[in-house]
Amino acid sequence: MPFEAPDQDVRRRVPRTDVLLRDPRLADAAGRLGAPAVRAAVREAQDRARTGRIPPEAVADEAAGLLPDTACGLRAVINATGVLLHTNLGRAPLSAAARRAVAEAAGPTDVELDLDTGVRARRGRTALRALQVRVPDAGAVHVVNNGAAALVLAATALAAGKEIVVSRGEMVEIGDGFRLPDLLVATGARLREVGTTNRTTAEDYAAVLGPGTGFVLKVHPSNFRITGFTRAAEVGELAGLGVPVVVDIGSGLLAPHPLLPGEPDATTQLRAGAALVTASGDKLLGGPQCGLLLGEAGLVRTLARHPLARALRVDKLTLAALEATLGGPPTPTAEALTADPAGLRARADRLAAALGAFPETGGIDVRAVESAATVGGGGAPGVVLPSAALSLPERFAAALRGGRIPVVGRLEGGRCLLDLRAVPPADDARLAEAVRAAAGSAARR
Ligand SMILES: *Cc1c(COP(=O)(O)O)cnc(C)c1O
Repeated sequence: MPFEAPDQDVRRRVPRTDVLLRDPRLADAAGRLGAPAVRAAVREAQDRARTGRIPPEAVADEAAGLLPDTACGLRAVINATGVLLHTNLGRAPLSAAARRAVAEAAGPTDVELDLDTGVRARRGRTALRALQVRVPDAGAVHVVNNGAAALVLAATALAAGKEIVVSRGEMVEIGDGFRLPDLLVATGARLREVGTTNRTTAEDYAAVLGPGTGFVLKVHPSNFRITGFTRAAEVGELAGLGVPVVVDIGSGLLAPHPLLPGEPDATTQLRAGAALVTASGDKLLGGPQCGLLLGEAGLVRTLARHPLARALRVDKLTLAALEATLGGPPTPTAEALTADPAGLRARADRLAAALGAFPETGGIDVRAVESAATVGGGGAPGVVLPSAALSLPERFAAALRGGRIPVVGRLEGGRCLLDLRAVPPADDARLAEAVRAAAGSAARR
C-alpha cells in the first residue's frame, strides 16, 4: 500500500494521544496490560502514520492491532527449527498439564503448609515425592534452580577447600561462555584434572585420590562428541574407590530411552554406584527449568540443609510444573522425540498442498521435504532424528519471525525450512496461517 510522501497536512491529521487513549479498545487494554504498553502501541501507530506507512485515519485500529497479548515482553513462538530443545527458545515447552498446574499455583497455595494440621510442612513435598517415585533407586531427592545450581551446591557442600577430581575430557563449556570448571572453582573447590582429552582410565582417578578429595565428578559431554581413540572410566569402575562419585548427566533422562542409547540416565548411574546424580529439568525430562539432585539419602539431606540451598531453591510455579511433568501425560518433548517420520511427512505434504493451493497468495513457492532434526543443547549430540519440513524461499525467514505468530525456522541450502518435529500437530493450522501472512509481507520485502 504505497502512500504519497507524508506532508505537513498528514502529520497534522495524526490523532493526538489523549484522543486515542479514549478509544474503548485502548482504554480497556490499559486495565489488562498496563498504561505503558498501551502508550507504546499508540506511539508506534502514530509514528507509522507520520512516516506515511498508514493513513492517519487508521491509527486507532493500528494501535489496537499492535497491543501485545500479555503484559509481558516474552512472545510465544512456534519452534520450527528442528532443534527439540532450543536454548534460545526456552528449551522444553511445558505440557498442557504443567501449564494448568502453573496457573493453579499462581495464587496462594499450600506449598509449605499442611492443610490438615495447619502447621508448616516440607516445601514442595508432593513434587519431591513425584520425583522420588520416578527414581526409586535414589535414597532421597532435592530440586534447585537449574543444573548448574545443582553442581554448585554439590561442590560447595562436599568439596569446598578440597579437590574435585575430573577427567580432562569432561571439562566442558555448556554454552554462552559458561564453563563448568570455572563454575566449580568459583565455589572454593580445587579441580584435580586427570587423564587426557581423549582417554582417561580408572587408574588415572585412583592415583590422585586421598584425604583432600571431595568427590570424583563425571560430566556427560552433552553438546559434543569425541570419537576415535577414546576411553572413559565408567561410574561402576570409580564407585569402589572410597570417595563419592557425582555424575552430572545433563539431560534429565530418569531411565534409559530406547531412541537415545548413548544418553546417560539417572537410574542406570545410581545402580552403577553413583552417590549423587545431577541433571536439568528442562532438557529431555521436558519440564520447567530446575536442577535435580538424586542420590544417597544422607548426602542429599546434607545438600538440602546447606545454607546455600536457600539461595538456590525453586519457586512454587517450578514445583507445580515439575510435579505435573513427572506424573502427567507424555511431554511435548517426549512426543516430538518419538514422532513417526512418516506421520511428519504426511503433515508436511498436507500443509504444502494447502498453502500452495491458497489462491489469495498467488501460490506460495512451498514444498514438503525431508529434514534432519536434533535434540539440541539438551543432549544426545550427533543423534539425527529423521523429520519433514516445509521448504520456503529464504526471505520467508525474517517475515515469519516478525509475524503476529512468530515462527522460527532454519536456513539450509538457500531455503527457509520449517521442520515439523518440534511443532505439535495441534499447531499446524497456526503454522499455515503464519506462512500465509508471511507470504504477503515477504513479497513486499
Ligand atoms: C545443560 C548442562 C548443564 C547445565 O544445566 P542448566 O540446567 O542449564 O544449568 C550442566 N551439565 C551438563 C552436562 C549439561 O548438559
